[in-house]
Amino acid sequence: MENVLVLAHTEADGSLSKVALDVIEAARSIATASGAGRDALAVGLVGEKVQPLSGVGSVYVVEGAEFSQPRYATDAAAAEAICRASGASLVLAPGTSRWMRALPGVAPRVNGRADTHVVAFDGQRATRWFYRQRIEAVLMRTARPWFVLLDAGLPYQPRQGEPAIRRVSVSLPTLRTRCGGFVESKSGQQTIRPDADLLFVAGAGWTKKQKDGQTHIPEAGKLILDFLTATRASLGSSKSLADMSGEGEAVLPFLSHLNQVGQTGATPRHPKGLSTCCHGEEPHVVGWRFIRERRAINLDPNCGWARGKADVLYVADAFEVLAKLNHLLST
Ligand SMILES: Cc1cc2nc3c(=O)[nH]c(=O)nc-3n(C[C@H](O)[C@H](O)[C@H](O)COP(=O)(O)OP(=O)(O)OC[C@H]3O[C@@H](n4cnc5c(N)ncnc54)[C@H](O)[C@@H]3O)c2cc1C
Repeated sequence: MENVLVLAHTEADGSLSKVALDVIEAARSIATASGAGRDALAVGLVGEKVQPLSGVGSVYVVEGAEFSQPRYATDAAAAEAICRASGASLVLAPGTSRWMRALPGVAPRVNGRADTHVVAFDGQRATRWFYRQRIEAVLMRTARPWFVLLDAGLPYQPRQGEPAIRRVSVSLPTLRTRCGGFVESKSGQQTIRPDADLLFVAGAGWTKKQKDGQTHIPEAGKLILDFLTATRASLGSSKSLADMSGEGEAVLPFLSHLNQVGQTGATPRHPKGLSTCCHGEEPHVVGWRFIRERRAINLDPNCGWARGKADVLYVADAFEVLAKLNHLLST
């Protein structure tokens, strides 16, 4: 029988991220399916101060000021100590940037193996994509402990039941890295919100001449930003629009190549998508493959979205629709 451990780290506010909680839920279902039940599930928590967690068998805690910030030396030492203390054969972890850096280095320290970007795991088989979502592979391993870093889990359900708390002491190496603060990128990053329910895509149409023969780029930028602020949607872009900003043309200043969706861009996983002023050509729409509910606003009733690529196409002026939407959202 597998001995299942979930490794999670706290966020800046001391809480666990949604993906960490969802991985705990996935691990619960693996422990239950293996017949071991909830008590066989251990969770390792690393952070400056960790919150109690109920509904699992045991919780291994590594706490302290050194563990407040992501740093390879401290994160790897904490994860290694918890793995050794728990004797886990399967180690599941959210694929956060912090764990993606540290855990593949921890696996060989405990004579294990690691797989990253796993999208589904049933306790024996790990599924992941290769070559930009073109090839889906199912992996099995005999080596243990097996570290599986998941991009998503199952929707987390809080449960009752106090776990056994075990505090784990960690011997740290001399620390040479210090976190000096955070610098956010000027564009792109703050409009990309992987946890958002809605992907809002802006296409090159926002920068084109409109019915009065003029472009309205500042107005387009304000309409889009107001919509994103009100809905907390994530911003995606077509390649044409992203390329224009790269070539120094006067376009939307908050947008970069990081926002690009499609064959040569990202394949985001939001439940819903709304495309605006984007033609819906195939190289763009392949990036929507995980988006289940799709709507588009375009002036052209023969655009790509009309050809079975969207559930609903609003043949309308996106400037007018967004102005109306923003008005409704603000009242
Ligand atoms: C190898 C390769 C890889 C590619 N990879 C990608 C990729 O990863 N992602 C990607 O996006 N593209 C990619 N492309 C490019 C893709 O084929 C299209 O050229 C691109 O998506 C077009 O962008 P667009 O729809 O925003 O612009 P356009 O084709 O210029 O369309 C603008 C649309 O805006 C509409 N419009 C204008 N004004 C309004 C208004 N007021 N209200 C409503 N609608 C309006 C117009 O009707 C038009 O349909 C790739 C192409 C190739 C060859």
